[in-house]
Amino acid sequence: MTDHAKPEVPAFDWPEFPAGLVWLVGAGPGDPGLLSLLGLHALRQADVVIHDALVNPQILEWRKQGAQAEYAGKRGGRPSADQRDISARLVELAKAGKRVLRLKGGDPFVFGRGGEEVQTLLDADVPVRVTPGVSAGIGGLAYAGIPVTHRLTNQVVTFLTGHDLKNDTTPSIDWQAIARGSPVLVMYMALRHIDRIAARLIEAGRAKEEPVAVVTNATLPNMKVLETTLATCAADVVETGLTAPAIICVGKVVSLRAMTDWLGSSEG
Ligand code: SAH
Repeated sequence: MTDHAKPEVPAFDWPEFPAGLVWLVGAGPGDPGLLSLLGLHALRQADVVIHDALVNPQILEWRKQGAQAEYAGKRGGRPSADQRDISARLVELAKAGKRVLRLKGGDPFVFGRGGEEVQTLLDADVPVRVTPGVSAGIGGLAYAGIPVTHRLTNQVVTFLTGHDLKNDTTPSIDWQAIARGSPVLVMYMALRHIDRIAARLIEAGRAKEEPVAVVTNATLPNMKVLETTLATCAADVVETGLTAPAIICVGKVVSLRAMTDWLGSSEG
């Protein structure tokens, strides 16, 4: 393996990764360069890495030689490991004295069930450390040239998930309150229900012409950015054939792309 493929962790007084600890790390939205230095340090120490589907395989390549990598992913619509099984596996490995790295896409506490995993681990007396990651709803949009806040457009931004706990239809969200109170909405796991979500926002008073961006595979070489409107987004998603993972951003910040698209990312 080349030096390029195994980045060095710079010298610093990094925290210890003791045996029996579960270190929960956010891997970022895709671009391996967005992994934090703490994340890389943890990765170079871990005996076993339990990762989600959205973690870039390149990042897994950076693990210590001989370290195990186990997939424990959950993707909407596909068979996936039960959350209880994942937590039980983390407990089992930690109690066996492993240094366990739990690597999750984006930030582990943003729609990632990291909170549930930490609760289960602490209940089982397993020590835990958490290192945040760049969340797709902020960092992914930045790669699409969309600032989630801008002084001239919004002092509020709302992050929401398009799935409820049962994984169907729109969640129990107060669309009226959000439509009135939040000029910018950033939606995770919302592609499948974009038609219903857009309809609810229009019903709740948002303008049909309001700009919407759908960003798929954000920060990766195959990133696509579709600029559309609330009225047309559902049809445009079907027409362009865009597929998950996608972040959907509603609000005036989307129009700023004309000036802030530093990557010159192509239209979907
Ligand atoms: N913890 C993650 C989110 C997990 S939920 C985070 O902080 O980013 C999974 C959802 O995140 C996906 O359905 C999608 O909505 C979003 N997502 C994650 N990575 C993405 C990417 N590279 N591009 C677009 N959306 C992404």
